[in-house]
Amino acid sequence: MNDANLVEVFSSVQGEGPYVGATTLFVRFGECDLRCAWCDSAHTWLPARTCRIETARGSAAFRTLPNPVALDAIVEAADILEVERHRFVSLTGGEPLLQPDAVAAVAECLGGRGPRIYLETHGLASVALERVTARVALDVVSMDWKLVSDVRRASDPKGGAAAPFHDEHERFLRAALAGRVGQVFVKVVVTAASEDGELDEVCARIASIAPDTPLVLQPVTPAGSVKERPTAARLLAWTRRCAEQLPDVRLIPQTHPIYDVL
Ligand code: SF4
Repeated sequence: MNDANLVEVFSSVQGEGPYVGATTLFVRFGECDLRCAWCDSAHTWLPARTCRIETARGSAAFRTLPNPVALDAIVEAADILEVERHRFVSLTGGEPLLQPDAVAAVAECLGGRGPRIYLETHGLASVALERVTARVALDVVSMDWKLVSDVRRASDPKGGAAAPFHDEHERFLRAALAGRVGQVFVKVVVTAASEDGELDEVCARIASIAPDTPLVLQPVTPAGSVKERPTAARLLAWTRRCAEQLPDVRLIPQTHPIYDVL
């Protein structure tokens, strides 16, 4: 496949996780099969009709292309945005692994240009990840570990209980560790609805697979139907609690909402 459904391509800095603040060229894919209660990207849930492309690095001015966007046009956009001046190329969404062939094609074209290829994913599509890493190596995989207290699948019946995500995340983590992935870390968005038992289960699963995997606890930025943050006392208690099972636990909030950057 030589084209992709994209929402946007732009230059900014990474707003979350262990590489927060690093210069990053973002390629945001359209469509997502989850419905996180706090999602700040609901415009990415369905395939996008058009893609906006920043016209110069840091300009925040955009031109628009119809979808799907051809691979050549993605590479041209990256060149115009001086891809080689970034530390990372982030393949994000939406959920990029709904388009594994396009993810692999973009990673193949932009890998080796200087920046490290950084995949941001909901961490559930293990078969798609294997399909990507069979074609191309990824430098960093940021995988979410979703909690049923705040996340549902788009296909879940309204009002019914959401099925847990733990088994699928476990398969995904194993696939990332077995594939051509330079570094993988797990990110859990914690909200006022998060429960101690959910986090205990996440840590126990990670500890049983690869205990050195970094775990980022990310306090929710209120958005969507989530109106409040967890208290500082709960955040610190969760950090201590997780650190009893895993050696590398970090409490890192999102920074892009503070600066109001792209
Ligand atoms: S996985 Fe990401 S894009 Fe999809 S609903 Fe959750 S936060 Fe939004």
